[in-house]
Amino acid sequence: MEKAERLKQLPPYLFVQIRNKIREAQARGIDVISLGVGDPDHPTPSHIVEALCKAAHDPANHPYPPDEEKGMLAFREAVAGWYARRFGVQLDPQTEVLALIGSKEGNHHLALGLLNPGDLAIVPDPAYPAYLASVIFAGAEVYRVPLDPSRGFLPNLADIPTDVARRAKLLVLNYPNNPTTAVAPLEFYQEAVAFARTFDLVVCNDNPYSEIAYDGYQPVSLLRAEGALEVGVEFNSLSKPYNMTGWRIGMAVGNREVIAAMAQVKENTDSGIFAAVQHAGIAALTGPQDCVQAVVSVYQHRRDRVVGVLRELGLQVEAPRATFYVWAPTPNGMPSMDFASLLLEEAGVVVTPGIGYGSRGEGFIRLSLTVPDHRLDEALRRLVERRAAIRAAVSH
Ligand SMILES: *Cc1c(COP(=O)(O)O)cnc(C)c1O
Repeated sequence: MEKAERLKQLPPYLFVQIRNKIREAQARGIDVISLGVGDPDHPTPSHIVEALCKAAHDPANHPYPPDEEKGMLAFREAVAGWYARRFGVQLDPQTEVLALIGSKEGNHHLALGLLNPGDLAIVPDPAYPAYLASVIFAGAEVYRVPLDPSRGFLPNLADIPTDVARRAKLLVLNYPNNPTTAVAPLEFYQEAVAFARTFDLVVCNDNPYSEIAYDGYQPVSLLRAEGALEVGVEFNSLSKPYNMTGWRIGMAVGNREVIAAMAQVKENTDSGIFAAVQHAGIAALTGPQDCVQAVVSVYQHRRDRVVGVLRELGLQVEAPRATFYVWAPTPNGMPSMDFASLLLEEAGVVVTPGIGYGSRGEGFIRLSLTVPDHRLDEALRRLVERRAAIRAAVSH
């Protein structure tokens, strides 16, 4: 069999290489601790699990779900209510909300619903790999706009060449950002919406970390920007705030034409989310929210410990204001793959090399805070213990 060109066009999946290195280390008897994956280590809150169980016992929920491709109206109403309470954004649940099987798949529906072969999409560098994949799968081309530390990892939209901006049909944003942990102020979203209106393109903000923020900071929504509903959509997800990554439920909200195009793709692709999972999603969005605050405070304690140890190692790292990652520059500009290998060799600790998110991610590593406390403490203890060896290897 000869696999499709679109698969060959994907950049080599660096994470496979890392997985192999982990296996090698484990085969040598090393107890490997992975700070590589961003996947909550706490269980889903029990009131949400209960809602699933109850709904799963109800035969009414066993056939294809109602309003298959859009999601149940009650779920879309819960999303609209949550957007109103949380962000002060008013949405019509009939036309401006779509249920997703996780926000990751939303990228693909958006790309397939919007982009023709040869069209252009603007994707940040570094970025979550699914953005690039969705554009490639749609047969479109990618222009990568750099995220620079000197600009707080916000793209300089004025630097995008006019011919690129004219040709582009989509601008992808993701704040709070994975992997850089950067956050965007409302003024930036206002700029992005103005840019999208000027050049007649769609702007999409992937916002699954809106609830994972520290020190009292509350991330805003792209849809708060003036005129955002004319050109903007936003993805959000129940995965991160409610520890529901395995459940596969999220949402797209915003411009009704974009939502309709995505729904048309979905109608021809999947038949929606198990209705019982949607009932659990309603319980999550409309129920008590103190469970979210509880996990955020766990991550905040971990963040402070990780940042403290990285500084002891000589890394110049800032405490993130949001997301459950720490994004740290490698010491002496060491290539990120080399530094990640060094930490694995010296301490049995896995971190993600920034190069895996694009060439502008080079010179950084990403550490995830979704590791049980005793394992994280063990990882940090080893890093401190091997501090001298790590510093010595870096200064060569
Ligand atoms: C975790 C993550 C997602 C995945 O969300 P799902 O709703 O579980 O598909 C999407 N975007 C970014 C940037 C993420 O880090």
